[in-house]
Amino acid sequence: MQDMKRLIEKLGYEDLMRMKKELEEGELKKFIEQKLRHFETTHEKTCSVCYNLLEPYSMHNYSLVFGPDDFKKKASFCGLDCLQYFLENLKVGRGD
Ligand SMILES: [Zn+2]
Repeated sequence: MQDMKRLIEKLGYEDLMRMKKELEEGELKKFIEQKLRHFETTHEKTCSVCYNLLEPYSMHNYSLVFGPDDFKKKASFCGLDCLQYFLENLKVGRGD
């Protein structure tokens, strides 16, 4: 929330008024929900394991969204090998 306040501090009068209006009309909430959905349904730019750039339209991309609803994380992979490596490391880390 501190970061959010710092962001808002930088806004001028007009932007603040517009933001307040959008908050009241629920526009801002809709926008944020849209951004969250985008986050959950798109791949990251790079593979979380080998850091290769992901080709956006490749059939070999995979993404995992995990963690609690209010603190979701996302990891993307360039192929099954990297996904498998990630899952195995996750298991070791958790001691499963
Ligand atoms: Zn990879």
